Amino acid sequence: MLRSCKGFTLMEILVVVTIIGILAAIAIPSYINAVEQGRRDACAANVHILFAQVERYRLTEGRPVPVDVDLVQFLKAKGYLTGEELQCPFASEEVKPEYKLRYQGQEATVYCSHCNPEQ
Ligand SMILES: [Zn+2]
Repeated sequence: MLRSCKGFTLMEILVVVTIIGILAAIAIPSYINAVEQGRRDACAANVHILFAQVERYRLTEGRPVPVDVDLVQFLKAKGYLTGEELQCPFASEEVKPEYKLRYQGQEATVYCSHCNPEQ
């Protein structure tokens, strides 16, 4: 007895859709976390670049970078930053993070107002 096979049964389609749903439920949160972590790492790399340039400015000029200036624009104007504008990857129309400079005694700390707001 031969059965004619013209397509998939409802049960087969439901099994496939369920498997795809389970895979998506596992993969989508992992993807979102990976994107978030990538942005945080990119921001941390920007902070390291800015800190290195703040120290370079202090050693070259013999005085520290002022605290009350826009750090990126100041370093760019003095020629310590070239190329593309350093910006927090979380920057958007609503969120406008800034890289800021703080001193604890002689020690400078650069931080992002979005990624490290507690500092
Ligand atoms: Zn940031």
